[in-house]
Amino acid sequence: MAEQTPSPEQLTQVDYRPKEKSWLDPHVEFRKGTYCYSAAPKNLKYLGLPNPREWQPFDHDWKLPPDWKEIILAGMKERLDRYRSFRLFMDICVRCGACADKCHFYLGSGDPKNMPVLRAELIRSVYRRYFTPAGRLFGSAVGARDLTVDVLKEWFYYFYQCTECRRCSVFCPYGIDTAEITMIGRELLTLVGCNINWVIEPVANCFRTGNHLGIQPHGFKDSIDFAVDELEEITGVRVDASINRKGAEVLFVMPSADYFGTPHYYTLLGYLALFHEIGLDYTLTAFASDGGNFGLFTSHEMMKRLNAKVYAEAKRLGVKWILGGECGHMWRVLHQYMDTMNGPADFLEVPVSPITHTRFEHAASTRMVHICEFTADLIRHGRLNLDVSRNDHWNVTFHDSCNPSRAMGLIEEPRYIIRNTCRAFHEMPENTIREQTFCCGSGSGLGTDENLEMRLRGGFPRANAVRYVRDKHGVNVLACICAIDKATLPPLLEYWSPGVEVAGVHEFVGNALVMKGERARTTDLRGEPMATPKEEPAHA
Ligand code: SF4
Ligand code: SF4
Repeated sequence: MAEQTPSPEQLTQVDYRPKEKSWLDPHVEFRKGTYCYSAAPKNLKYLGLPNPREWQPFDHDWKLPPDWKEIILAGMKERLDRYRSFRLFMDICVRCGACADKCHFYLGSGDPKNMPVLRAELIRSVYRRYFTPAGRLFGSAVGARDLTVDVLKEWFYYFYQCTECRRCSVFCPYGIDTAEITMIGRELLTLVGCNINWVIEPVANCFRTGNHLGIQPHGFKDSIDFAVDELEEITGVRVDASINRKGAEVLFVMPSADYFGTPHYYTLLGYLALFHEIGLDYTLTAFASDGGNFGLFTSHEMMKRLNAKVYAEAKRLGVKWILGGECGHMWRVLHQYMDTMNGPADFLEVPVSPITHTRFEHAASTRMVHICEFTADLIRHGRLNLDVSRNDHWNVTFHDSCNPSRAMGLIEEPRYIIRNTCRAFHEMPENTIREQTFCCGSGSGLGTDENLEMRLRGGFPRANAVRYVRDKHGVNVLACICAIDKATLPPLLEYWSPGVEVAGVHEFVGNALVMKGERARTTDLRGEPMATPKEEPAHA
Protein backbone atom coordinates (compact mmCIF):
# COMPACT_ATOMS: atom_id res chain seq x y z
CA MET A 1 0.00 0.00 0.00
CA ALA A 2 1.16 3.52 -0.76
CA GLU A 3 2.56 5.44 2.21
CA GLN A 4 -0.11 8.12 2.13
CA THR A 5 -2.99 5.60 2.23
CA PRO A 6 -5.07 6.13 5.38
CA SER A 7 -5.48 3.21 7.79
CA PRO A 8 -8.66 1.06 7.79
CA GLU A 9 -9.69 2.76 11.05
CA GLN A 10 -9.47 6.16 9.35
CA LEU A 11 -11.31 5.05 6.22
CA THR A 12 -14.24 3.64 8.17
CA GLN A 13 -14.87 7.04 9.77
CA VAL A 14 -17.25 8.08 6.98
CA ASP A 15 -19.13 11.35 7.41
CA TYR A 16 -22.62 10.96 5.94
CA ARG A 17 -23.92 14.37 7.07
CA PRO A 18 -25.19 16.43 4.13
CA LYS A 19 -22.77 19.15 2.98
CA GLU A 20 -23.68 22.75 3.75
CA LYS A 21 -23.06 24.05 0.25
CA SER A 22 -25.69 23.65 -2.48
CA TRP A 23 -25.37 20.63 -4.77
CA LEU A 24 -25.41 23.09 -7.66
CA ASP A 25 -21.97 24.34 -6.58
CA PRO A 26 -19.59 22.44 -8.90
CA HIS A 27 -16.27 23.05 -7.14
CA VAL A 28 -14.27 19.87 -6.42
CA GLU A 29 -10.94 19.36 -4.71
CA PHE A 30 -8.59 17.05 -6.63
CA ARG A 31 -7.07 15.50 -3.53
CA LYS A 32 -4.31 12.93 -3.97
CA GLY A 33 -5.67 9.39 -3.79
CA THR A 34 -9.11 10.26 -5.13
CA TYR A 35 -8.65 10.87 -8.86
CA CYS A 36 -6.81 9.38 -11.85
CA TYR A 37 -4.10 11.02 -13.93
CA SER A 38 -4.83 12.37 -17.40
CA ALA A 39 -4.24 10.47 -20.64
CA ALA A 40 -0.76 10.88 -22.11
CA PRO A 41 -0.84 12.91 -25.36
CA LYS A 42 1.01 10.19 -27.30
CA ASN A 43 -1.87 7.78 -26.65
CA LEU A 44 -4.54 10.26 -27.70
CA LYS A 45 -2.55 11.03 -30.85
CA TYR A 46 -2.16 7.36 -31.65
CA LEU A 47 -5.94 6.87 -31.44
CA GLY A 48 -6.77 10.07 -33.30
CA LEU A 49 -8.64 11.46 -30.27
CA PRO A 50 -9.12 15.21 -29.76
CA ASN A 51 -6.93 17.71 -27.91
CA PRO A 52 -3.76 15.75 -27.05
CA ARG A 53 -1.69 17.86 -24.59
CA GLU A 54 0.18 17.77 -21.30
CA TRP A 55 -2.15 18.52 -18.39
CA GLN A 56 -3.29 17.10 -15.05
CA PRO A 57 -6.64 17.30 -13.22
CA PHE A 58 -5.12 19.38 -10.39
CA ASP A 59 -3.96 22.07 -12.90
CA HIS A 60 -5.94 25.29 -12.89
CA ASP A 61 -5.82 25.49 -16.69
CA TRP A 62 -6.99 22.29 -18.40
CA LYS A 63 -5.97 23.67 -21.83
CA LEU A 64 -9.40 23.10 -23.32
CA PRO A 65 -10.13 23.99 -26.94
CA PRO A 66 -11.48 27.58 -27.27
CA ASP A 67 -14.88 26.26 -28.41
CA TRP A 68 -15.03 23.47 -25.80
CA LYS A 69 -18.53 24.47 -24.63
CA GLU A 70 -20.00 24.33 -28.12
CA ILE A 71 -18.32 20.95 -28.68
CA ILE A 72 -19.85 19.50 -25.52
CA LEU A 73 -23.34 20.88 -26.16
CA ALA A 74 -23.27 19.68 -29.77
CA GLY A 75 -22.10 16.28 -28.50
CA MET A 76 -24.96 16.19 -26.00
CA LYS A 77 -27.50 17.05 -28.67
CA GLU A 78 -26.17 14.38 -30.98
CA ARG A 79 -26.38 11.76 -28.23
CA LEU A 80 -29.85 12.86 -27.09
CA ASP A 81 -30.99 12.32 -30.67
CA ARG A 82 -29.14 9.03 -31.14
CA TYR A 83 -29.67 7.26 -27.78
CA ARG A 84 -33.30 7.16 -26.72
CA SER A 85 -32.23 5.74 -23.35
CA PHE A 86 -30.09 8.82 -22.65
CA ARG A 87 -32.97 11.24 -23.24
CA LEU A 88 -35.29 9.00 -21.22
CA PHE A 89 -32.85 8.85 -18.30
CA MET A 90 -32.55 12.64 -18.39
CA ASP A 91 -36.34 13.06 -18.21
CA ILE A 92 -37.87 10.37 -16.02
CA CYS A 93 -35.99 10.41 -12.71
CA VAL A 94 -38.45 11.37 -9.95
CA ARG A 95 -35.67 11.75 -7.35
CA CYS A 96 -37.28 9.11 -5.16
CA GLY A 97 -33.89 8.31 -3.64
CA ALA A 98 -34.21 4.51 -3.92
CA CYS A 99 -30.76 4.40 -5.51
CA ALA A 100 -29.14 6.86 -3.11
CA ASP A 101 -27.46 4.43 -0.71
CA LYS A 102 -26.82 1.65 -3.25
CA CYS A 103 -23.55 2.88 -4.69
CA HIS A 104 -20.38 1.52 -3.12
CA PHE A 105 -18.62 4.85 -3.69
CA TYR A 106 -21.27 6.68 -1.67
CA LEU A 107 -21.17 4.05 1.07
CA GLY A 108 -17.39 4.22 1.24
CA SER A 109 -16.94 7.99 0.87
CA GLY A 110 -20.12 9.61 2.24
CA ASP A 111 -19.89 12.12 -0.63
CA PRO A 112 -23.49 12.91 -1.67
CA LYS A 113 -22.42 13.40 -5.28
CA ASN A 114 -21.54 9.72 -5.33
CA MET A 115 -25.23 8.93 -4.85
CA PRO A 116 -26.31 7.67 -8.29
CA VAL A 117 -29.20 10.16 -8.39
CA LEU A 118 -26.88 13.08 -7.79
CA ARG A 119 -24.17 11.75 -10.11
CA ALA A 120 -26.77 11.80 -12.88
CA GLU A 121 -27.94 15.27 -11.83
CA LEU A 122 -24.46 16.60 -12.66
CA ILE A 123 -25.24 16.10 -16.34
CA ARG A 124 -29.03 16.36 -16.05
CA SER A 125 -28.71 19.92 -14.70
CA VAL A 126 -26.89 20.91 -17.90
CA TYR A 127 -29.48 19.06 -19.98
CA ARG A 128 -32.22 21.05 -18.26
CA ARG A 129 -30.45 24.37 -18.85
CA TYR A 130 -29.86 23.93 -22.59
CA PHE A 131 -32.44 21.38 -23.75
CA THR A 132 -35.65 22.04 -21.78
CA PRO A 133 -37.93 25.12 -21.81
CA ALA A 134 -38.22 25.09 -17.99
CA GLY A 135 -34.45 25.10 -17.57
CA ARG A 136 -33.98 27.89 -20.08
CA LEU A 137 -36.63 30.04 -18.36
CA PHE A 138 -36.16 29.29 -14.68
CA GLY A 139 -32.51 28.22 -14.38
CA SER A 140 -31.37 27.09 -10.93
CA ALA A 141 -34.95 27.27 -9.61
CA VAL A 142 -35.59 24.02 -11.53
CA GLY A 143 -32.14 22.54 -10.96
CA ALA A 144 -30.57 23.84 -14.18
CA ARG A 145 -26.92 24.93 -14.39
CA ASP A 146 -24.77 26.72 -16.91
CA LEU A 147 -22.02 24.59 -18.41
CA THR A 148 -18.80 26.06 -16.98
CA VAL A 149 -15.23 24.84 -16.69
CA ASP A 150 -15.90 23.95 -13.05
CA VAL A 151 -18.90 21.85 -14.09
CA LEU A 152 -16.69 20.07 -16.61
CA LYS A 153 -14.10 19.40 -13.90
CA GLU A 154 -16.82 18.08 -11.64
CA TRP A 155 -17.98 15.70 -14.40
CA PHE A 156 -14.43 14.41 -14.75
CA TYR A 157 -14.11 13.86 -10.99
CA TYR A 158 -17.39 11.99 -10.52
CA PHE A 159 -17.68 10.13 -13.84
CA TYR A 160 -14.29 8.65 -13.01
CA GLN A 161 -15.61 7.72 -9.57
CA CYS A 162 -18.30 5.47 -11.06
CA THR A 163 -17.32 1.97 -12.05
CA GLU A 164 -20.31 1.58 -14.38
CA CYS A 165 -21.30 -1.40 -12.24
CA ARG A 166 -25.09 -0.89 -12.60
CA ARG A 167 -25.93 -1.85 -9.00
CA CYS A 168 -28.00 1.31 -8.66
CA SER A 169 -30.13 0.38 -11.66
CA VAL A 170 -31.31 -2.81 -9.90
CA PHE A 171 -33.05 -0.67 -7.28
CA CYS A 172 -34.44 2.09 -9.52
CA PRO A 173 -38.21 1.66 -10.02
CA TYR A 174 -37.81 3.24 -13.48
CA GLY A 175 -34.79 1.18 -14.50
CA ILE A 176 -32.56 4.21 -14.88
CA ASP A 177 -29.08 2.94 -15.59
CA THR A 178 -26.59 5.42 -14.18
CA ALA A 179 -23.76 3.45 -15.77
CA GLU A 180 -25.08 4.51 -19.17
CA ILE A 181 -25.17 8.12 -18.00
CA THR A 182 -21.55 7.79 -16.90
CA MET A 183 -20.67 6.28 -20.27
CA ILE A 184 -22.17 9.31 -22.03
CA GLY A 185 -20.46 11.64 -19.55
CA ARG A 186 -17.06 10.09 -20.30
CA GLU A 187 -17.80 10.20 -24.01
CA LEU A 188 -18.52 13.93 -23.84
CA LEU A 189 -15.34 14.55 -21.83
CA THR A 190 -13.39 12.65 -24.47
CA LEU A 191 -14.63 15.11 -27.12
CA VAL A 192 -12.49 17.81 -25.48
CA GLY A 193 -9.55 15.58 -24.53
CA CYS A 194 -10.38 14.91 -20.87
CA ASN A 195 -9.77 11.24 -20.26
CA ILE A 196 -7.56 9.13 -17.97
CA ASN A 197 -4.41 7.31 -18.93
CA TRP A 198 -5.35 4.06 -17.23
CA VAL A 199 -8.12 3.71 -19.82
CA ILE A 200 -6.57 5.32 -22.89
CA GLU A 201 -3.17 3.61 -22.76
CA PRO A 202 -4.69 0.08 -22.76
CA VAL A 203 -6.94 1.15 -25.65
CA ALA A 204 -3.92 2.41 -27.62
CA ASN A 205 -2.05 -0.83 -26.82
CA CYS A 206 -5.01 -2.83 -28.04
CA PHE A 207 -4.91 -1.12 -31.42
CA ARG A 208 -1.20 -1.70 -31.76
CA THR A 209 -0.91 -5.30 -30.55
CA GLY A 210 -4.42 -6.73 -30.12
CA ASN A 211 -4.27 -6.65 -26.32
CA HIS A 212 -4.38 -4.07 -23.52
CA LEU A 213 -0.99 -4.93 -22.12
CA GLY A 214 0.84 -4.21 -25.38
CA ILE A 215 2.20 -7.75 -25.66
CA GLN A 216 3.45 -8.51 -29.17
CA PRO A 217 2.55 -11.75 -30.97
CA HIS A 218 5.82 -13.49 -30.10
CA GLY A 219 5.34 -12.49 -26.43
CA PHE A 220 1.85 -13.96 -26.54
CA LYS A 221 3.22 -17.20 -27.98
CA ASP A 222 6.01 -17.33 -25.38
CA SER A 223 3.47 -16.95 -22.58
CA ILE A 224 1.30 -19.76 -23.90
CA ASP A 225 4.33 -22.01 -24.46
CA PHE A 226 5.46 -21.31 -20.90
CA ALA A 227 2.01 -22.25 -19.58
CA VAL A 228 2.05 -25.50 -21.56
CA ASP A 229 5.46 -26.39 -20.05
CA GLU A 230 4.34 -25.51 -16.56
CA LEU A 231 1.14 -27.53 -16.84
CA GLU A 232 3.22 -30.52 -17.92
CA GLU A 233 5.44 -30.11 -14.85
CA ILE A 234 2.38 -30.14 -12.59
CA THR A 235 0.34 -32.89 -14.28
CA GLY A 236 2.79 -34.86 -16.39
CA VAL A 237 0.49 -34.28 -19.38
CA ARG A 238 1.70 -32.35 -22.45
CA VAL A 239 -1.15 -30.31 -23.90
CA ASP A 240 -1.34 -28.70 -27.31
CA ALA A 241 -2.37 -25.03 -27.51
CA SER A 242 -2.40 -23.91 -31.11
CA ILE A 243 -2.36 -20.26 -32.15
CA ASN A 244 -3.77 -18.82 -35.40
CA ARG A 245 -4.67 -22.30 -36.67
CA LYS A 246 -7.05 -22.09 -39.61
CA GLY A 247 -9.91 -24.57 -39.75
CA ALA A 248 -10.18 -25.23 -36.00
CA GLU A 249 -13.76 -25.75 -34.83
CA VAL A 250 -13.65 -23.19 -32.02
CA LEU A 251 -11.87 -19.87 -31.52
CA PHE A 252 -11.02 -19.24 -27.86
CA VAL A 253 -10.73 -15.60 -26.78
CA MET A 254 -9.67 -14.57 -23.29
CA PRO A 255 -8.58 -11.44 -21.41
CA SER A 256 -4.84 -10.77 -21.82
CA ALA A 257 -4.38 -10.78 -18.05
CA ASP A 258 -5.01 -14.54 -18.14
CA TYR A 259 -1.65 -15.13 -19.77
CA PHE A 260 0.23 -12.30 -18.09
CA GLY A 261 -0.97 -11.80 -14.52
CA THR A 262 -1.59 -13.73 -11.34
CA PRO A 263 -3.88 -15.15 -10.11
CA HIS A 264 -5.36 -15.05 -13.64
CA TYR A 265 -2.61 -17.31 -14.93
CA TYR A 266 -3.86 -20.29 -12.88
CA THR A 267 -7.20 -19.87 -14.65
CA LEU A 268 -5.37 -20.19 -17.98
CA LEU A 269 -3.77 -23.43 -16.77
CA GLY A 270 -7.27 -24.65 -15.93
CA TYR A 271 -8.58 -23.83 -19.42
CA LEU A 272 -5.64 -25.59 -21.09
CA ALA A 273 -6.05 -28.73 -18.97
CA LEU A 274 -9.81 -28.80 -19.64
CA PHE A 275 -9.56 -28.34 -23.42
CA HIS A 276 -6.94 -31.06 -23.69
CA GLU A 277 -8.90 -33.48 -21.57
CA ILE A 278 -12.10 -33.18 -23.62
CA GLY A 279 -10.20 -33.11 -26.93
CA LEU A 280 -11.58 -29.73 -27.99
CA ASP A 281 -10.55 -28.68 -31.50
CA TYR A 282 -9.72 -25.03 -30.72
CA THR A 283 -7.28 -22.31 -31.57
CA LEU A 284 -6.10 -19.15 -29.85
CA THR A 285 -5.34 -16.04 -31.86
CA ALA A 286 -2.45 -13.58 -31.62
CA PHE A 287 -4.53 -10.94 -33.41
CA ALA A 288 -7.55 -10.96 -31.09
CA SER A 289 -5.26 -11.70 -28.16
CA ASP A 290 -7.55 -9.84 -25.77
CA GLY A 291 -11.31 -10.11 -25.56
CA GLY A 292 -11.29 -7.34 -22.93
CA ASN A 293 -12.48 -3.97 -24.16
CA PHE A 294 -11.49 -0.71 -22.45
CA GLY A 295 -13.30 1.00 -25.32
CA LEU A 296 -16.40 0.40 -23.18
CA PHE A 297 -14.96 2.94 -20.73
CA THR A 298 -14.16 5.50 -23.43
CA SER A 299 -16.95 5.74 -26.02
CA HIS A 300 -19.36 3.59 -28.02
CA GLU A 301 -17.23 4.21 -31.11
CA MET A 302 -14.06 3.03 -29.36
CA MET A 303 -15.83 -0.05 -28.03
CA LYS A 304 -16.92 -0.96 -31.54
CA ARG A 305 -13.44 -0.44 -32.99
CA LEU A 306 -11.80 -2.69 -30.38
CA ASN A 307 -14.47 -5.36 -30.59
CA ALA A 308 -14.31 -5.70 -34.38
CA LYS A 309 -11.23 -7.90 -34.24
CA VAL A 310 -13.09 -10.81 -32.61
CA TYR A 311 -15.43 -11.48 -35.55
CA ALA A 312 -12.75 -10.53 -38.08
CA GLU A 313 -10.42 -13.16 -36.65
CA ALA A 314 -13.16 -15.81 -36.43
CA LYS A 315 -13.82 -15.20 -40.13
CA ARG A 316 -10.14 -15.29 -41.11
CA LEU A 317 -9.54 -18.55 -39.25
CA GLY A 318 -12.73 -20.16 -40.53
CA VAL A 319 -13.93 -21.44 -37.15
CA LYS A 320 -17.51 -22.55 -36.49
CA TRP A 321 -18.11 -20.59 -33.27
CA ILE A 322 -16.39 -18.68 -30.48
CA LEU A 323 -15.75 -19.53 -26.85
CA GLY A 324 -14.84 -16.79 -24.37
CA GLY A 325 -12.87 -16.86 -21.12
CA GLU A 326 -13.40 -15.38 -17.66
CA CYS A 327 -13.69 -11.60 -18.03
CA GLY A 328 -16.24 -8.99 -16.99
CA HIS A 329 -16.09 -6.01 -19.33
CA MET A 330 -15.20 -8.33 -22.21
CA TRP A 331 -18.51 -10.12 -21.72
CA ARG A 332 -20.52 -6.93 -21.21
CA VAL A 333 -19.47 -5.90 -24.71
CA LEU A 334 -19.79 -9.37 -26.24
CA HIS A 335 -23.20 -10.01 -24.76
CA GLN A 336 -24.85 -6.59 -25.00
CA TYR A 337 -23.24 -4.83 -27.94
CA MET A 338 -21.18 -7.06 -30.25
CA ASP A 339 -24.02 -8.44 -32.30
CA THR A 340 -25.52 -5.05 -33.14
CA MET A 341 -22.18 -3.23 -33.43
CA ASN A 342 -20.21 -5.67 -35.54
CA GLY A 343 -22.64 -8.44 -36.45
CA PRO A 344 -24.47 -10.26 -37.78
CA ALA A 345 -21.95 -13.09 -37.58
CA ASP A 346 -23.87 -15.20 -40.07
CA PHE A 347 -20.62 -16.72 -41.33
CA LEU A 348 -20.49 -18.63 -38.00
CA GLU A 349 -22.73 -21.49 -36.79
CA VAL A 350 -24.97 -21.59 -33.74
CA PRO A 351 -22.60 -23.00 -31.08
CA VAL A 352 -22.95 -26.71 -30.36
CA SER A 353 -20.76 -28.45 -27.80
CA PRO A 354 -18.82 -31.14 -29.68
CA ILE A 355 -18.71 -33.17 -26.45
CA THR A 356 -22.30 -33.09 -25.16
CA HIS A 357 -24.02 -31.90 -28.38
CA THR A 358 -25.82 -29.21 -26.41
CA ARG A 359 -26.96 -26.44 -28.74
CA PHE A 360 -26.44 -23.07 -27.05
CA GLU A 361 -29.60 -21.40 -28.37
CA HIS A 362 -29.09 -18.26 -26.28
CA ALA A 363 -25.92 -17.67 -28.34
CA ALA A 364 -27.74 -18.13 -31.65
CA SER A 365 -27.14 -14.49 -32.51
CA THR A 366 -23.68 -13.70 -31.13
CA ARG A 367 -22.33 -17.24 -31.85
CA MET A 368 -20.22 -16.93 -28.71
CA VAL A 369 -20.45 -18.98 -25.51
CA HIS A 370 -19.07 -18.21 -22.04
CA ILE A 371 -16.57 -20.73 -20.69
CA CYS A 372 -18.67 -21.16 -17.52
CA GLU A 373 -21.73 -22.11 -19.60
CA PHE A 374 -19.60 -24.55 -21.56
CA THR A 375 -17.99 -26.16 -18.52
CA ALA A 376 -21.21 -26.32 -16.49
CA ASP A 377 -22.77 -28.19 -19.42
CA LEU A 378 -19.86 -30.67 -19.45
CA ILE A 379 -20.27 -31.31 -15.73
CA ARG A 380 -24.07 -31.60 -16.03
CA HIS A 381 -23.57 -34.35 -18.62
CA GLY A 382 -21.00 -36.16 -16.46
CA ARG A 383 -18.23 -35.67 -19.01
CA LEU A 384 -15.51 -34.65 -16.54
CA ASN A 385 -13.73 -36.85 -14.03
CA LEU A 386 -13.46 -34.53 -11.04
CA ASP A 387 -11.73 -35.23 -7.72
CA VAL A 388 -13.17 -32.52 -5.47
CA SER A 389 -10.87 -33.42 -2.59
CA ARG A 390 -8.02 -31.81 -4.51
CA ASN A 391 -9.50 -28.41 -3.64
CA ASP A 392 -9.90 -29.18 0.04
CA HIS A 393 -7.27 -26.59 0.90
CA TRP A 394 -9.69 -23.96 -0.39
CA ASN A 395 -12.70 -22.73 1.57
CA VAL A 396 -14.50 -20.79 -1.12
CA THR A 397 -16.88 -17.87 -1.45
CA PHE A 398 -17.99 -16.42 -4.79
CA HIS A 399 -18.00 -12.79 -5.88
CA ASP A 400 -20.49 -12.12 -8.67
CA SER A 401 -18.55 -9.83 -10.96
CA CYS A 402 -20.80 -6.92 -11.94
CA ASN A 403 -20.88 -7.44 -15.69
CA PRO A 404 -21.41 -11.22 -15.88
CA SER A 405 -24.06 -11.11 -13.16
CA ARG A 406 -25.98 -7.93 -13.94
CA ALA A 407 -25.26 -7.52 -17.65
CA MET A 408 -25.68 -11.13 -18.75
CA GLY A 409 -27.34 -13.00 -15.89
CA LEU A 410 -24.50 -15.48 -15.48
CA ILE A 411 -25.21 -16.33 -11.87
CA GLU A 412 -25.81 -20.06 -11.44
CA GLU A 413 -23.20 -21.51 -13.81
CA PRO A 414 -20.08 -20.45 -11.87
CA ARG A 415 -21.68 -21.60 -8.62
CA TYR A 416 -22.55 -24.95 -10.20
CA ILE A 417 -18.92 -25.38 -11.26
CA ILE A 418 -17.60 -24.45 -7.82
CA ARG A 419 -19.98 -26.81 -6.05
CA ASN A 420 -18.82 -29.62 -8.32
CA THR A 421 -15.11 -28.93 -7.91
CA CYS A 422 -14.85 -27.79 -4.28
CA ARG A 423 -16.34 -29.16 -1.09
CA ALA A 424 -16.24 -26.04 1.08
CA PHE A 425 -18.35 -23.22 -0.29
CA HIS A 426 -20.11 -20.44 1.61
CA GLU A 427 -22.17 -17.60 0.21
CA MET A 428 -21.74 -14.03 1.35
CA PRO A 429 -24.89 -12.23 2.68
CA GLU A 430 -27.74 -12.24 0.18
CA ASN A 431 -27.86 -8.47 -0.40
CA THR A 432 -24.21 -8.46 -1.50
CA ILE A 433 -24.30 -11.20 -4.16
CA ARG A 434 -26.05 -12.18 -7.40
CA GLU A 435 -27.84 -9.17 -8.99
CA GLN A 436 -27.15 -7.14 -5.87
CA THR A 437 -23.45 -7.85 -5.89
CA PHE A 438 -21.07 -5.12 -4.74
CA CYS A 439 -18.42 -3.94 -7.19
CA CYS A 440 -14.71 -4.44 -6.54
CA GLY A 441 -14.46 -0.63 -6.54
CA SER A 442 -11.88 -0.53 -9.32
CA GLY A 443 -13.76 -1.50 -12.48
CA SER A 444 -14.24 0.56 -15.65
CA GLY A 445 -10.56 1.46 -15.84
CA LEU A 446 -10.17 2.80 -12.30
CA GLY A 447 -7.79 0.07 -11.10
CA THR A 448 -4.70 2.24 -10.95
CA ASP A 449 -2.52 3.38 -8.04
CA GLU A 450 -3.04 7.12 -7.93
CA ASN A 451 -6.71 6.78 -6.86
CA LEU A 452 -6.05 4.00 -4.34
CA GLU A 453 -7.85 5.69 -1.45
CA MET A 454 -11.05 5.95 -3.50
CA ARG A 455 -10.69 2.33 -4.64
CA LEU A 456 -10.37 1.16 -1.05
CA ARG A 457 -13.37 3.25 -0.02
CA GLY A 458 -15.46 1.99 -2.96
CA GLY A 459 -14.35 -1.61 -2.40
CA PHE A 460 -15.20 -1.56 1.30
CA PRO A 461 -18.76 -2.98 1.04
CA ARG A 462 -17.46 -5.93 -1.03
CA ALA A 463 -14.52 -6.57 1.27
CA ASN A 464 -16.70 -6.25 4.36
CA ALA A 465 -18.92 -9.11 3.14
CA VAL A 466 -15.81 -11.20 2.43
CA ARG A 467 -14.57 -10.48 5.93
CA TYR A 468 -17.90 -11.71 7.31
CA VAL A 469 -17.59 -15.17 5.71
CA ARG A 470 -13.89 -15.30 6.52
CA ASP A 471 -14.62 -14.78 10.21
CA LYS A 472 -17.79 -16.92 10.31
CA HIS A 473 -16.81 -19.87 8.10
CA GLY A 474 -13.04 -19.66 7.70
CA VAL A 475 -13.28 -18.75 4.00
CA ASN A 476 -9.80 -18.37 2.54
CA VAL A 477 -10.45 -17.74 -1.15
CA LEU A 478 -12.72 -15.43 -3.11
CA ALA A 479 -13.58 -16.86 -6.54
CA CYS A 480 -14.59 -14.61 -9.43
CA ILE A 481 -14.82 -14.62 -13.22
CA CYS A 482 -13.46 -11.20 -14.12
CA ALA A 483 -9.92 -10.16 -15.05
CA ILE A 484 -10.24 -6.74 -13.40
CA ASP A 485 -11.49 -8.40 -10.21
CA LYS A 486 -8.56 -10.78 -10.19
CA ALA A 487 -6.19 -7.80 -10.45
CA THR A 488 -7.87 -5.44 -8.01
CA LEU A 489 -9.41 -7.68 -5.33
CA PRO A 490 -6.06 -8.94 -3.94
CA PRO A 491 -4.88 -5.50 -2.71
CA LEU A 492 -8.43 -4.70 -1.56
CA LEU A 493 -8.59 -7.87 0.55
CA GLU A 494 -5.07 -7.43 1.82
CA TYR A 495 -6.24 -4.08 3.19
CA TRP A 496 -9.72 -4.96 4.53
CA SER A 497 -9.76 -8.75 4.90
CA PRO A 498 -6.27 -10.23 5.01
CA GLY A 499 -5.84 -13.97 4.65
CA VAL A 500 -8.27 -14.35 1.73
CA GLU A 501 -6.82 -15.15 -1.69
CA VAL A 502 -8.46 -14.55 -5.09
CA ALA A 503 -8.96 -17.24 -7.77
CA GLY A 504 -10.69 -17.88 -11.06
CA VAL A 505 -13.33 -20.60 -11.26
CA HIS A 506 -11.34 -22.60 -13.84
CA GLU A 507 -8.43 -22.81 -11.45
CA PHE A 508 -10.62 -25.10 -9.33
CA VAL A 509 -11.59 -27.04 -12.47
CA GLY A 510 -7.91 -27.53 -13.34
CA ASN A 511 -7.10 -28.71 -9.83
CA ALA A 512 -9.98 -31.17 -9.62
CA LEU A 513 -9.75 -32.50 -13.17
CA VAL A 514 -8.35 -36.02 -13.31
CA MET A 515 -6.59 -36.13 -16.67
CA LYS A 516 -5.97 -39.27 -18.64
CA GLY A 517 -2.32 -40.29 -18.28
CA GLU A 518 -1.55 -37.81 -15.51
CA ARG A 519 0.99 -38.59 -12.81
CA ALA A 520 0.07 -38.47 -9.13
CA ARG A 521 -0.37 -34.77 -8.44
CA THR A 522 1.56 -33.35 -5.53
CA THR A 523 0.80 -29.69 -6.12
CA ASP A 524 -2.12 -27.60 -7.24
CA LEU A 525 -1.95 -25.24 -10.23
CA ARG A 526 -0.21 -22.64 -8.04
CA GLY A 527 2.57 -25.12 -7.27
CA GLU A 528 1.35 -25.30 -3.66
CA PRO A 529 1.10 -28.70 -1.93
CA MET A 530 -2.10 -30.54 -2.85
CA ALA A 531 -4.75 -30.73 -0.13
CA THR A 532 -5.09 -33.64 2.25
CA PRO A 533 -8.66 -34.89 1.66
CA LYS A 534 -11.25 -34.10 4.32
CA GLU A 535 -14.14 -36.38 5.23
CA GLU A 536 -17.19 -34.13 5.17
CA PRO A 537 -18.27 -31.64 2.53
CA ALA A 538 -18.86 -28.11 3.85
CA HIS A 539 -21.29 -26.49 1.45
CA ALA A 540 -23.50 -23.81 2.91
S1 SF4 B 1 -34.03 5.29 -7.98
FE1 SF4 B 1 -34.27 5.97 -10.16
S2 SF4 B 1 -35.98 7.45 -10.12
FE2 SF4 B 1 -35.30 7.18 -7.97
S3 SF4 B 1 -33.76 8.81 -7.66
FE3 SF4 B 1 -32.62 6.99 -8.32
S4 SF4 B 1 -32.44 7.20 -10.56
FE4 SF4 B 1 -34.08 8.61 -9.89
S1 SF4 C 1 -23.17 2.35 -11.79
FE1 SF4 C 1 -22.25 1.58 -9.87
S2 SF4 C 1 -20.58 3.03 -9.44
FE2 SF4 C 1 -21.95 4.03 -10.94
S3 SF4 C 1 -23.42 5.19 -9.71
FE3 SF4 C 1 -24.35 3.19 -10.07
S4 SF4 C 1 -23.77 1.97 -8.25
FE4 SF4 C 1 -22.39 3.75 -8.32
